[in-house]
Amino acid sequence: MEDAIVIGSGPNGLTAAATLARAGWRVRVLEAQPRPGGALYSVASTLPGYVHDVGAAFFPFAHFSPALRQLRLEEVGLAWRGGVYESAHPAPDGTCATIARDPDRAARAFGADGDAWRRLAQWQADMGQRLPDALLAPLTDPRAAIRLGLANLVRLGIAGVSTAAGYSRWLFRTEAARRVIPGLALHVDLGPDDFGGAALGLVLTLLAAGGGFQVPVGGARAITDALLKRLDDSHGILQLGAQVESIIVRNRRGVAVRTTAGEEITARKAILADVGAPALYLRLLPDACVAGWVRQSIRNFRYGWGTFKVDWALAGPVPWLSEEARQSAVIHAGDSIDDLVRFTNEARAGALPTNPYLVIGQQSLLDSTRAPAGCHTLWAYSRVPSQMMGGWEKHREVFADRIDARIEGLAPGFRALIRGRAVFAPDDLERMNENLVGGDLGGGSAQFTHQLFWRPVFPYFRYRTPVKGVYLCSASAHPGAGVHGACGYNAALAALADCP
Ligand SMILES: Cc1cc2nc3c(=O)[nH]c(=O)nc-3n(C[C@H](O)[C@H](O)[C@H](O)COP(=O)(O)OP(=O)(O)OC[C@H]3O[C@@H](n4cnc5c(N)ncnc54)[C@H](O)[C@@H]3O)c2cc1C
Repeated sequence: MEDAIVIGSGPNGLTAAATLARAGWRVRVLEAQPRPGGALYSVASTLPGYVHDVGAAFFPFAHFSPALRQLRLEEVGLAWRGGVYESAHPAPDGTCATIARDPDRAARAFGADGDAWRRLAQWQADMGQRLPDALLAPLTDPRAAIRLGLANLVRLGIAGVSTAAGYSRWLFRTEAARRVIPGLALHVDLGPDDFGGAALGLVLTLLAAGGGFQVPVGGARAITDALLKRLDDSHGILQLGAQVESIIVRNRRGVAVRTTAGEEITARKAILADVGAPALYLRLLPDACVAGWVRQSIRNFRYGWGTFKVDWALAGPVPWLSEEARQSAVIHAGDSIDDLVRFTNEARAGALPTNPYLVIGQQSLLDSTRAPAGCHTLWAYSRVPSQMMGGWEKHREVFADRIDARIEGLAPGFRALIRGRAVFAPDDLERMNENLVGGDLGGGSAQFTHQLFWRPVFPYFRYRTPVKGVYLCSASAHPGAGVHGACGYNAALAALADCP
């Protein structure tokens, strides 16, 4: 009999499992898919020899996250590569504010806003490890926030109540610099004019200036492989192709899970669910175990927009017009705040965006193992409506061509380099991983109504659920999306505290 069952092997599930196994628990991870890792994996989706990340590709939290640091993944082979620049924000007018870890280099790239950039970079350096510690800690433990200090909390709090557009206009003078924070906030469903949207854009800006947007050698799956190694070191077990359809509750306590194949597996101490909050509360747990008002609140839980992702196999590096973009790990396409507002409005209205905002990754520039010699990979995603009139099948190639055209505008000659292209609409992503509901990459909306004490629903923000011994450990829990393992780690600590 196992001490703990972890449902799902995404980065949060594996972090939870490895943490419990290292504490001496007998742990089994049940994964629905034939491969582990959830949105943290890599495959040759275009052509043999090209390694593409299926989801997460850049890891601003990885070096700072207490959850991942305690597992010392570098000691089991995980190696990192960084770029000269972290995030370039080019526009067709030739301007390009670019974040670099070297503050002098970044200040030069911010031009007339160089001094404003230096102040931000200095702020990040002063906070150091204290910022991620505070962001990733359970909300019930205020020690990290206290260590951050009142002045920093107030400064972050200002971003927490600002729109990304308003905050950027206050911080910077040039349009090039002003599109940086809104461009980073749009990684999730936070448009330039959304209340509180500045917070995430600012945090990603600060993390890019600190640890940067580094990549693991060999692809994102190298992180999953390292987590699995840690699990294996402590005799934890991973079972693939095992989809959990229900949690069995006796005397108000979760005691076992049942898979779709009819297997029943007992857990002596805890069941941790790396699944979306609605899947746990409305599908896996028996109706009778969750109060009506909790079920109603969870029905109001909203997912973010869909994600539309493309992988390319290229015959050479992308010929960006901007010199900084040619050396940058990530490129953001978004010409101005107005362009990003227009994009947001179209996506929210259910339309296919005309000028797609893009997050573009150049992993092979940093890590030569990703493509055959002299060749390169490219990875990009845009945010789109989860569903389209007539289904995504009708729009998939049209929108992918629109993305190609946008990149061609910033890098003439790009299309001529394409050897292979793999396209994933929101429904494709959800088929690959049932947590990516409607193609949302965040495990739930990032709007302020779905953050902190409201993630996934008040008062169940502490990973515990109404059923004893059952914990939510996915990105639907605080602190949400991203590969930091904090949701899994914090849930594992809650389980260890409840059942030492
Ligand atoms: C296209 C894309 C790009 C991204 N880019 C980045 C990035 O660059 N940097 C970053 O930090 N983050 C990025 N993210 C977000 C990041 O990948 C997620 O926040 C993170 O993977 C969440 O981890 P998780 O463990 O909560 O869930 P997931 O990674 O979604 O894994 C959940 C796992 O649980 C399994 N599962 C679900 N239900 C069941 C069940 N009933 N039974 C058994 N198994 C089940 C699923 O099959 C899946 O394997 C990106 C995501 C996507 C999709």
